Amino acid sequence: MSPHSNTENGSSILWCLDVDGVLTEPTTKKISFPRTIKQLCRRAEQGDILALNTGRSLSWIEERVLPLFLSSLSEKDSIFVSAEKGALWQKFSENSKFPKRSDKTLLVPRELQEAVRKIVRENHSTFFDETKESMISLEMRDGYDTKKFGDEMHKLERLIAPFLSQYPTLSIEKSIIALDIQESRVGKSLGSLRVLEWITSRPNKVICVGDSPADLEMVIPFLTARFPTDFLYLGTAPLSDPIRDPLLSYPSVSSRYCEGLTEFLSS
Ligand SMILES: [Mg+2]
Repeated sequence: MSPHSNTENGSSILWCLDVDGVLTEPTTKKISFPRTIKQLCRRAEQGDILALNTGRSLSWIEERVLPLFLSSLSEKDSIFVSAEKGALWQKFSENSKFPKRSDKTLLVPRELQEAVRKIVRENHSTFFDETKESMISLEMRDGYDTKKFGDEMHKLERLIAPFLSQYPTLSIEKSIIALDIQESRVGKSLGSLRVLEWITSRPNKVICVGDSPADLEMVIPFLTARFPTDFLYLGTAPLSDPIRDPLLSYPSVSSRYCEGLTEFLSS
C-alpha cells in the first residue's frame, strides 16, 4: 500500500497545498496536470481534507484553480482556501460559496500601493496585481523569461526601497515570478493557522506541498499542534534551513514542480 494512502489505518490526510508551481505551471500559470486535481478530489471523497495555502488572491484562485476542483469534488466535499498568505480565507463547495473572511489589520497602506503602482506602470516585465486585497504583488507577465524577470526585480526593489523604509512592519518576499510587499506577520505559516482553525476533525497526518523554500514554514502550526507532517518539496532552490522535528518527514520524488505532485500521488 502506498505510504500516503488515505485508506491506510482508515485514516484521513490533510493536504495543505501551495498553488504556483505545485498545481499551476509557474510560467503559463495554468493547471498543468488536471489529473492531479481529480486524484486529490477522489481522496477527498475517501475522507481526506483539501486546503490551498497560497499567496494568490481569492479571485485568482476562483478563476483559475477552483473550477476544476469544484467540478471534480463530490457534493458533500469542500475545499478551503487561505489566500494572500493568510490575510483572507474562504471555503468553497460545488454548490456553495461560504463567506469570505479577512484580517483587516494586515492591509498594506493605500499611499504605498499608489507609489509602487506608479513605479511599475513603466515596466514591461511586470504588472501590479490589482486582484490582491491586502498586499502589493508585482508579478511577472505571463510567458516572460523568469531569469530576466529576476534581474529586473532587483532594479525595481531599489526604486521601491525609499518608500518602503517608512513602514517598519512591512517586508519584501520574492519568488521566481513575483515580488510581494506585505505585513511581516503574513506568510505560509499564518496560512496554515487558518487551515487549522477551519478543520473540524483531526486528521491522522498532514501533507504540505510547496516549491519555494518559504513554503517550508507551512509545517510549523501543524507541528505545534503535534500532527505527524510531511513536507513534499518540489522546488529546485535548496532548502537552506530545514526544520528538524521528530514528527516531520521529507518524502522525495524525482520530478519537480507540478509533475512531482503527480508522481507523488501516483506512487
Ligand atoms: Mg509556489
